[in-house]
Amino acid sequence: MSKNRTLPFGYAYENGEVVRNQKEARAVAQIFELYILGKSLSEIPEMLTIPFNGEDSKWDKHKVKRVLENKKYIGDGTYPQIIRKEDFDHVARIMASKRGNKVVLSDELQAIRDKAYCHHCGRHICRKLDRHKKETWICYECYYGYKITDDIILSISTALLNILIANPSLAENNEDKPYTPTDEIVRREQNISNSLASSTVEANEIIKAIMQNAEKKYDCCSYDDTAEITKKIKEKLTEHAPLKSFDLMLFEEIVEEIQPDIGCSIYMKLKNGAIIQHAIKRGENNERRS
Ligand SMILES: [Zn+2]
Repeated sequence: MSKNRTLPFGYAYENGEVVRNQKEARAVAQIFELYILGKSLSEIPEMLTIPFNGEDSKWDKHKVKRVLENKKYIGDGTYPQIIRKEDFDHVARIMASKRGNKVVLSDELQAIRDKAYCHHCGRHICRKLDRHKKETWICYECYYGYKITDDIILSISTALLNILIANPSLAENNEDKPYTPTDEIVRREQNISNSLASSTVEANEIIKAIMQNAEKKYDCCSYDDTAEITKKIKEKLTEHAPLKSFDLMLFEEIVEEIQPDIGCSIYMKLKNGAIIQHAIKRGENNERRS
């Protein structure tokens, strides 16, 4: 039977649809496992018992590499999933670190990095590896590095999201924002009271100015949609099941900023400005994989 070469290894056509080729899919899973276990691209071909494509085609390190880099294995609309996304990302990180320095972040870490700000000065912070290859988040304003590993930042963020799911009322922003007039309003009010004091200004002019100013005041107040955002956040949390792992979609929907702090502590600022904080105590996270 001739094999359709346009399909990646691990898949077959069945009734016009792409399905898993069970035998090949097992080989794909095996390649990822072996690579994660530390086997090299040139060691893996010898360990595989399922031929690459057809009987006579032998595995080599280039074919193994192509499998490890093929994003279709994590599944999309057309291709059924063969590899867990965590494993795919894990392999991508190992490959990147072997290539040298260029770091490929998982989507989750990328999302966290995009929202990472310094807890002390509010500046965007950068993720770097220190000379021991430990993750550090650096603020170039404070010149301070928050030493917090990827695993911990993801675990604490997940824990924070779970705390919110269990208690949506924590997402309320309790900071009352009293009305404070803008400089422009203050200046306009000053003008109006000056006009009132002067006898040369038409009453109509003054009334017009007062009306305009009231509109301005109303404008600036109506832009505060915090209550509406809070309501939406609470709805999302209420309908959400507790998380087993980091949830990128929920994170994007409700989180504005992630602020690491010293002592493996993280502040999570929501889109309505509410802030919650959680820290990992010593010994709580000693199940790290090597
Ligand atoms: Zn700073």
